Formats: sequence, structure tokens, C-alpha cells
Amino acid sequence: MLLLPLILISAVTSYWLANKYINQTYDKALYRTALALADQVSLEELGVQVTLPQVAKDLLEFDEEDDVYFRIIDPTGDLISTHTDLPLPKTYPKGDKFLYYETWLHSEKLRVVAYALPTIAGFAPTDNNNVYVMVGETLKKRTLMANEIILSMLLPQLLIICLVSALLFFGIKRGLLPLDKLKNDLSQRSSNDLSPVDNTKALTELQPLLSAFNALLARVSNTMAKQQRFVSDAAHQLKTPLAGLKTQAELALRETDIAKTKHALGQINQASGNLSHLVNQLLSLTKAEPEAVAAVVFETVDLYLLAQEVCKSWVAEALKKDIDLGFECALKIAPVHGNASLLRELMSNLISNAVRYTPTSGSVTVGIKKENLNFIFYVQDNGIGIFPEDQTRIFERFYRVLGTQQEGCGLGLAIVQEIAERHHASITFRSDGEGKGSLFSVVFSGN
Ligand code: ADP
Repeated sequence: MLLLPLILISAVTSYWLANKYINQTYDKALYRTALALADQVSLEELGVQVTLPQVAKDLLEFDEEDDVYFRIIDPTGDLISTHTDLPLPKTYPKGDKFLYYETWLHSEKLRVVAYALPTIAGFAPTDNNNVYVMVGETLKKRTLMANEIILSMLLPQLLIICLVSALLFFGIKRGLLPLDKLKNDLSQRSSNDLSPVDNTKALTELQPLLSAFNALLARVSNTMAKQQRFVSDAAHQLKTPLAGLKTQAELALRETDIAKTKHALGQINQASGNLSHLVNQLLSLTKAEPEAVAAVVFETVDLYLLAQEVCKSWVAEALKKDIDLGFECALKIAPVHGNASLLRELMSNLISNAVRYTPTSGSVTVGIKKENLNFIFYVQDNGIGIFPEDQTRIFERFYRVLGTQQEGCGLGLAIVQEIAERHHASITFRSDGEGKGSLFSVVFSGN
């Protein structure tokens, strides 16, 4: 398609050039005829005379394709002519000079040469007083030849276009075959198949795209594996307390002694409490996932007020263990961009841990401070602390340090981490080891 305008331009240029050279050739012949006619002009006693035998006249007029006309004039009028209505030039050439012009005769276009005879002895021609020979002919053979030239040039060009188009068509089709195969492979793939696409046979140009696509598949596969692990871990976590509940319930049913039945019911109560905590933590974790957070409103939240409120809600629990739960903040306000509900969850989990992992009569300090432009929420306790070998794992989902003798499901810190990430906050943590207490800080960049 793109080649067509080029062919058109080439055809027009070729036609123009062909006409130019054809005209040059035939014009020369026309000029020679004019000269031959001019030779027949002589000055006689009676004035300028043209001696042209009929045979010569016939010869001059003879042309297989075209009609030839001529006219010889002097200031008195036509000396001899085939057609006295052969149009004269608009301007005449000077002596012994010639010019060509195009004109119409009997609805046919003509090419005419006008030749001015040189001075004839005894006859004193001037520019306005001269003998002129006009020879004209129709343009049939010129047109014919131009058409032939154009055809002979255009046909090979058209042939080349057809060939190139066919080559391009089949070449592109063949080049796109691997892409087609890839499309078919991908559309037939099962939604569970996240194995990398075979890019060994793909075009070189496609390699980077396929590599990026394979990297994406690997990431999706990784995320899916994580989700699956999480679901199976969660199911496992639920399975144990549920089995315990069932055993306790069966025990209570079989028991005839009221005291023992009560004891079993007490255990059922505690187990359901733990179960309910686990389910709540699972829900909190789901709410902190990026997809869920995308739907919640983020606004300016005063960390100071929020921390004070959450801290208060843990006072009763702390008092049960005689823990000194304190709140410190030298600021009047600590605005951050966030979601109050999620931040409440984050604070609650950290305070809950501090209270749970601090022995009776210990102390827990919750506070807000400002460093540079950042607001820091921190929870410090003088509890059991964390062994260095556990410190790297405590943020993992379902990870629990063994032997703490505290109920829990190992999701609290994972929730804290998710919520902090959603707020672009970072968590720093310090514990000098067992019995040395812990300090968890969440650093929010200030508004
Ligand atoms: P859970 O508390 O339900 O076990 P977490 O994810 O909140 O789960 O905590 C993971 C582990 O980190 C806990 O099992 C505990 O051993 C340890 N841990 C968390 N906070 C503290 C703390 N303030 N002091 C000591 N150990 C802690």
C-alpha cells in the first residue's frame, strides 16, 4: 500500500521525462521538414516564389500515423499551404531561427514548428516582413510512444510491487508464527499453571518481554504459594483448638460429677476464648492486607489521642497482673496520615504483647515522641525479652516463641507489620535478650 504513492510519483515523473525526450526527437524531424520546405522558397522576378512539385508535397505530408500540415507565408499572405487555417504562432522567430508551439486544428492538438527564413537576396525581410514556414503534425505517434515507454516502465514496477507485497505478507506471517503459537499456548493454559513460558524458541525481539512476563509469573506463583501456606497454617491453627473443644465437650457430656463437668466447661470456655481470639486476629490480618486497605479511608489521625485511648483500654488487663502501665508524651498533638481503626489495631497488639510478656508487677510504658519530622509510637516493657535467635522471626505469621507460657496465635506482630507497611511506617525493635525487656517503635513520617 505504501509503495503505491511512490509508484504514482515515479509514473508521473517518467511520463513527463518520456514526453520531453519524445518531443525533442520528433521536433527535430519537424524542423528538418520545415528546412526542406524553406529550401523551396526563392526570389523570382515576380517576388518570393515557392516551387513545390506535387510529389514533394505528398512526400512532406506523408506520415503513417499523424496528419501533417504546413503553411508558408510572407507579408502578403499564404505562399503555399496545405491548410490556410493552420494557426500561426503568437510571436514569430527572428531570421533563420525557429520556435515550437502547440495549437489546435479541427479539434486535434498539433505540435508546430515556425521557422523564419534568413534574408533572401533582394528581399529584405525584417522581423515584421519575413517569410515563415510553419509545419505542424498531430501528436498520435508521440502519445503512442509515450504510452509504450510508460507501460514498459510501469509493468516491471508493478511486478516488483506484487512480489515485494507477497514476500512481505508471507514473511510477516511466518515471522508472527511463534507469536501465534505463544498465544495458543497461553490461551490453552490452565489457570493453575504458573510455570514459565518457554522462551528459547521465541524471536530475539520477544525475549525481554517474555523474561519480564516469566518474572511476573514467578512473583504471582510466589504470592499464591504464600497464600496457600497461610490458609493451610490457619486451618491447622483452627484444627487443634477445635479438636480440644470437642474432646472437652465429650468429657463434659460423659461426666456425672458436677464439679468435674464444671471444670471441663471452664476449659471449653477458655478454648473458645482462644479460638475467638485466633479468628479475630485472622480477620484483623485480612483487614490489613493491601487489597482491603485500598478501600478504607485515610485521613489525618492524632497519634497522641489514639495512643492515649488504646492505652486506657488496657489498664484493666494490666492491673490484673499488677503491671504499671504508663503513658508518656511531651507533645500536644501528633498528626499522621492514616486510618484510625487500623492504627488502633496496631497499638493494641503491641500493648497486648507487652502486657502479656511482662511478668506480674512489671512495667509497660507507652509513649509518643517526635524525632526530626517523624512521630514515633513506642511500647517499652521490662518483661521477658526476646532471644536473639527468635528476633528475626517474630514478625512471621504464626511464629511463636516456645515456652513463654502465654496464650497466643503468632499473628499479632504480623498484623502490626502489615498495618505499618500500609502507613509507610517502619518498625524498629530492641531487646537485649531474655529478661531484659523489649522496646517496639513504629516510626511515622510526619505530615
Ligand atoms: P503471639 O503474641 O500471639 O504469640 P505475636 O506475633 O504478637 O504473636 O508475637 C510473636 C512472638 O514474639 C510471641 O510469641 C512472643 O514470643 C514474642 N513477643 C512479642 N512481643 C513480645 C514482647 N513484648 N516481649 C517478649 N516477647 C514478645
